[in-house]
Amino acid sequence: MKIRNFICIGCPLGCPLQVTIDDAGTVARVSGHTCPRGEAYARKEATNPTRIVTSTVWVRGSKSHAVTVSVKTASDIPKGKIFDCIKDIKDVTISAPVRIGDIVKTNVDGTGVDMIATKNVF
Ligand code: SF4
Repeated sequence: MKIRNFICIGCPLGCPLQVTIDDAGTVARVSGHTCPRGEAYARKEATNPTRIVTSTVWVRGSKSHAVTVSVKTASDIPKGKIFDCIKDIKDVTISAPVRIGDIVKTNVDGTGVDMIATKNVF
Protein backbone atom coordinates (compact mmCIF):
# COMPACT_ATOMS: atom_id res chain seq x y z
CA MET A 1 0.00 0.00 0.00
CA LYS A 2 1.09 3.53 -0.78
CA ILE A 3 -0.51 6.79 0.33
CA ARG A 4 -0.38 9.98 -1.74
CA ASN A 5 -1.57 13.39 -0.64
CA PHE A 6 -2.97 16.11 -2.88
CA ILE A 7 -4.73 19.44 -2.50
CA CYS A 8 -7.93 19.51 -4.54
CA ILE A 9 -7.95 22.27 -7.16
CA GLY A 10 -11.65 21.93 -7.93
CA CYS A 11 -12.65 25.05 -5.99
CA PRO A 12 -11.18 27.60 -3.57
CA LEU A 13 -11.80 25.36 -0.53
CA GLY A 14 -8.69 23.32 -1.42
CA CYS A 15 -9.64 20.16 0.45
CA PRO A 16 -6.67 17.98 1.48
CA LEU A 17 -7.05 14.63 -0.31
CA GLN A 18 -5.50 11.31 0.62
CA VAL A 19 -5.34 8.48 -1.90
CA THR A 20 -4.52 4.92 -0.88
CA ILE A 21 -3.02 2.90 -3.74
CA ASP A 22 -2.80 -0.88 -3.42
CA ASP A 23 0.16 -3.02 -4.48
CA ALA A 24 -1.40 -3.53 -7.93
CA GLY A 25 -1.37 0.25 -8.49
CA THR A 26 -5.14 0.60 -8.15
CA VAL A 27 -6.80 3.32 -6.13
CA ALA A 28 -8.20 1.52 -3.08
CA ARG A 29 -9.55 4.50 -1.16
CA VAL A 30 -9.95 8.27 -1.40
CA SER A 31 -10.57 10.45 1.64
CA GLY A 32 -10.62 14.13 2.52
CA HIS A 33 -12.93 15.22 -0.30
CA THR A 34 -16.20 16.96 0.46
CA CYS A 35 -17.79 16.50 -2.96
CA PRO A 36 -17.65 14.04 -5.88
CA ARG A 37 -15.44 16.36 -7.96
CA GLY A 38 -12.71 16.03 -5.37
CA GLU A 39 -12.83 12.24 -5.45
CA ALA A 40 -12.68 12.21 -9.26
CA TYR A 41 -9.74 14.64 -9.22
CA ALA A 42 -7.86 12.53 -6.64
CA ARG A 43 -8.32 9.31 -8.62
CA LYS A 44 -7.16 10.93 -11.85
CA GLU A 45 -4.25 12.76 -10.25
CA ALA A 46 -3.01 9.53 -8.65
CA THR A 47 -3.25 7.41 -11.81
CA ASN A 48 -3.25 9.63 -14.91
CA PRO A 49 -2.53 13.29 -14.14
CA THR A 50 -3.34 15.69 -16.98
CA ARG A 51 -3.20 19.43 -17.52
CA ILE A 52 -4.29 22.18 -19.89
CA VAL A 53 -1.09 23.83 -21.18
CA THR A 54 -0.96 27.58 -21.81
CA SER A 55 1.73 29.53 -23.61
CA THR A 56 2.25 32.09 -26.40
CA VAL A 57 3.36 31.88 -30.04
CA TRP A 58 4.79 34.51 -32.40
CA VAL A 59 2.52 36.52 -34.69
CA ARG A 60 3.59 38.33 -37.86
CA GLY A 61 1.77 41.04 -39.75
CA SER A 62 -0.44 42.32 -36.92
CA LYS A 63 -2.05 45.72 -37.61
CA SER A 64 -2.19 46.30 -33.86
CA HIS A 65 1.56 45.61 -33.64
CA ALA A 66 1.06 42.52 -31.48
CA VAL A 67 4.03 40.19 -31.64
CA THR A 68 2.57 37.22 -29.77
CA VAL A 69 -0.80 35.58 -29.16
CA SER A 70 -1.80 33.52 -26.14
CA VAL A 71 -2.58 29.84 -26.78
CA LYS A 72 -3.71 26.75 -24.90
CA THR A 73 -4.23 23.09 -25.54
CA ALA A 74 -7.79 22.39 -26.66
CA SER A 75 -8.08 19.77 -23.88
CA ASP A 76 -5.98 18.17 -21.16
CA ILE A 77 -2.73 16.43 -22.09
CA PRO A 78 -0.66 14.04 -19.95
CA LYS A 79 1.24 15.99 -17.30
CA GLY A 80 4.51 14.37 -18.41
CA LYS A 81 4.16 15.89 -21.89
CA ILE A 82 3.96 19.55 -20.80
CA PHE A 83 7.58 20.50 -21.54
CA ASP A 84 7.62 18.57 -24.83
CA CYS A 85 4.52 20.48 -25.94
CA ILE A 86 6.13 23.81 -25.08
CA LYS A 87 9.21 22.78 -27.08
CA ASP A 88 7.00 21.75 -30.00
CA ILE A 89 5.50 25.24 -30.35
CA LYS A 90 8.69 27.15 -29.55
CA ASP A 91 9.34 28.09 -33.19
CA VAL A 92 5.74 28.45 -34.34
CA THR A 93 4.89 31.79 -35.99
CA ILE A 94 1.39 32.46 -37.34
CA SER A 95 0.06 35.28 -39.49
CA ALA A 96 -2.50 37.84 -38.34
CA PRO A 97 -5.43 38.01 -38.22
CA VAL A 98 -5.87 35.38 -35.52
CA ARG A 99 -9.21 34.58 -33.94
CA ILE A 100 -9.99 32.89 -30.65
CA GLY A 101 -10.17 29.15 -31.30
CA ASP A 102 -7.96 29.19 -34.40
CA ILE A 103 -5.73 26.12 -34.48
CA VAL A 104 -2.15 27.23 -34.06
CA LYS A 105 -0.63 23.73 -34.19
CA THR A 106 -2.37 20.43 -34.77
CA ASN A 107 -1.55 17.32 -32.76
CA VAL A 108 0.93 19.11 -30.53
CA ASP A 109 3.87 16.79 -29.79
CA GLY A 110 1.86 13.77 -30.93
CA THR A 111 -0.66 14.05 -28.12
CA GLY A 112 -3.64 14.12 -30.50
CA VAL A 113 -4.59 17.51 -29.05
CA ASP A 114 -4.46 20.81 -30.95
CA MET A 115 -3.03 24.06 -29.63
CA ILE A 116 -5.54 26.90 -30.14
CA ALA A 117 -5.48 30.68 -29.86
CA THR A 118 -7.14 32.25 -26.82
CA LYS A 119 -7.09 35.84 -28.05
CA ASN A 120 -8.04 37.80 -31.16
CA VAL A 121 -5.13 39.51 -32.90
CA PHE A 122 -5.78 41.79 -35.88
S1 SF4 B 1 -13.34 18.29 -2.85
FE1 SF4 B 1 -15.03 19.51 -3.68
S2 SF4 B 1 -15.32 21.10 -2.11
FE2 SF4 B 1 -13.30 20.25 -1.75
S3 SF4 B 1 -11.85 21.57 -2.94
FE3 SF4 B 1 -12.44 19.83 -4.25
S4 SF4 B 1 -14.14 20.61 -5.47
FE4 SF4 B 1 -13.93 21.96 -3.69
